[in-house]
Amino acid sequence: MYRTHTCGELKIENKGGSVQLAGWVQTVRKFGAITFIDLRDRYGITQLLFGEGLNAQLEANPLGREFVLQATGTVSERSNKNKNIPTGDIEIVVESFSILNKSAVPPFTIQDDTDGGDDLRMKYRYLDLRRNAVKKNLELRYAVNRSARNYLHEQGFYDIETPFLIKSTPEGARDFVVPSRMNPGEFYALPQSPQTFKQLLMVSGYDRYYQVVKCFRDEDLRADRQPEFTQIDCEMAFVQQEDILNMFEGLAKRIFKDVKGIDYTETVERTTWEEAMWNYGNDKPDIRFGMKIANLKFPLHVFPSKKEHLQTSPLGAGGGDGNATGFAVFDSAETVVAISVAGAGEYSRKQTDEITEWVKRPQIGMKGLAFIKCAADGTYKSSMDKFFDAEKLKAIADAAGAQTGDIVLILAGNEERTRKAISELRLEMAKRLGLRKNNEFKLLWVLDFPLFEYDEESNRWVARHHPFTSPKPQDIEVMINNDPTISNAAKYLEHPYAGIKANAYDIVLNGNEIGGGSIRIFQRELQEKMFAALGMSKEEALHKFGFLLGAFEYGAPPHGGIAFGFDRFCAILGGSESIRDFIAFPKNNSGRDVMLDAPSTIDEKQLEELQIKTAVK
Ligand code: ASP
Repeated sequence: MYRTHTCGELKIENKGGSVQLAGWVQTVRKFGAITFIDLRDRYGITQLLFGEGLNAQLEANPLGREFVLQATGTVSERSNKNKNIPTGDIEIVVESFSILNKSAVPPFTIQDDTDGGDDLRMKYRYLDLRRNAVKKNLELRYAVNRSARNYLHEQGFYDIETPFLIKSTPEGARDFVVPSRMNPGEFYALPQSPQTFKQLLMVSGYDRYYQVVKCFRDEDLRADRQPEFTQIDCEMAFVQQEDILNMFEGLAKRIFKDVKGIDYTETVERTTWEEAMWNYGNDKPDIRFGMKIANLKFPLHVFPSKKEHLQTSPLGAGGGDGNATGFAVFDSAETVVAISVAGAGEYSRKQTDEITEWVKRPQIGMKGLAFIKCAADGTYKSSMDKFFDAEKLKAIADAAGAQTGDIVLILAGNEERTRKAISELRLEMAKRLGLRKNNEFKLLWVLDFPLFEYDEESNRWVARHHPFTSPKPQDIEVMINNDPTISNAAKYLEHPYAGIKANAYDIVLNGNEIGGGSIRIFQRELQEKMFAALGMSKEEALHKFGFLLGAFEYGAPPHGGIAFGFDRFCAILGGSESIRDFIAFPKNNSGRDVMLDAPSTIDEKQLEELQIKTAVK
């Protein structure tokens, strides 16, 4: 037996007890003839006191940081108590000790505020993982995992594993591929998700499936993505959208309760994709705060249902159609949008200049910013004084929902960029005003996404979610009765396919998409039509997805599902912006594991066995 107790459990009640501990040396402090050692393990830190009698042994066997130590002694009350740690009332008066293993001097301090930079910590990740801050994240991850499993088990879901070596059918992201030695010249792919397998399990009658599963996508790693990441992947048969939403907001709420002790009793809000874009410029809006967008001018083909709104815009009849305002910036813009920022009406010139610079950054890409300050005395100070009289400025401010003391920030330009920019500006202003609080959680369902997206490069439709997502029942006819070919790329939005809505839903937490799914296509003909709409020939569809089309011929039930981004969910619950902090062994931004130094070249012999020649030397 190495230890009778852990380093986190001894209290004043244990006083007088004879104990044995084992752990890592956190610190060594000498006070005259006495030596204090903080001994650390996963459970905590306990102070060890080495009296004068042990000095000879200590001198012969000097202890250093991260040495693995075993010590036997008696629990005694500390005179100088440490209220910050659970074991702070006691210390162990050591009678004997032995060094179980030595340690080289660690390349950084194993403390919350370590002196180690990112690269160094990743290279020595096994040391980084000893740090309390990292350990807390992994504990939270395990708690989320446990909570999800308990909930899904209670709801009758089976955890069923699906294979990692599968067929390459790239749609969306690029596949990671694995050469097959036994089938030279042929490759497996690692799954981007278990999508088709979980659908096949529905065909097989396992009507509630889940898996906490690795997914692999060979994407360029934009901010905070990992080439392998984990999903809580779920599927159900005999369900409609409503069933799925209820089941999985239940899962999210259960996780809040189990992991954070939060009773999320409110109903989870819902919005359509179109309303989300209209109100927030974003399909994953952060609704912890309002600051909705005022649409002063917008292209009708993007928001066909907003025709009436266009008539009432303060920019003039038709929402500033043509040269309605006389202000060239607005008149020439496709889109004019505004937000009203509460309590910022007294912003100085310097502050408005700074926000203007912010929107002009290449990432945001705006040419400038217009503003109206709604002063306490009822007057309006604006960067557009020359073009608009007070009445007009008031009308614009009113349309933006501004109150006295607010500032209205206005952007104008091309629809896509401007809407994205106002969405970013909204988040930025909320951040500056402290409205994006780590400990406040707000879920939102986003529904009715477009089924298709237009891909400029290949001049064709691509599935916005994935090709197995069903259209809304009322749109099935539109899909069947129209030719998907896009003849006029510039007018793709006017093609009937652009208006087809998907039976798909995303669950958003604090402005992050934490999950998404759909009600699936389950009839062969419609699935074939879908593949054709995506530009796949019959042969190609059969080659890639023949197994699924075949399965649909043998009594496929209606089904649907969802997958949660497990790493992201954990990161948000842990109040962090980075999923890497919640993964034991993450990769860096170039997809490298710097600890393993992977990927790496392989032996000539291995290549030969695989019958592969590389062009890279
Ligand atoms: N497999 C999908 C994804 O990875 C999720 C789903 O539709 O259930 O995004």
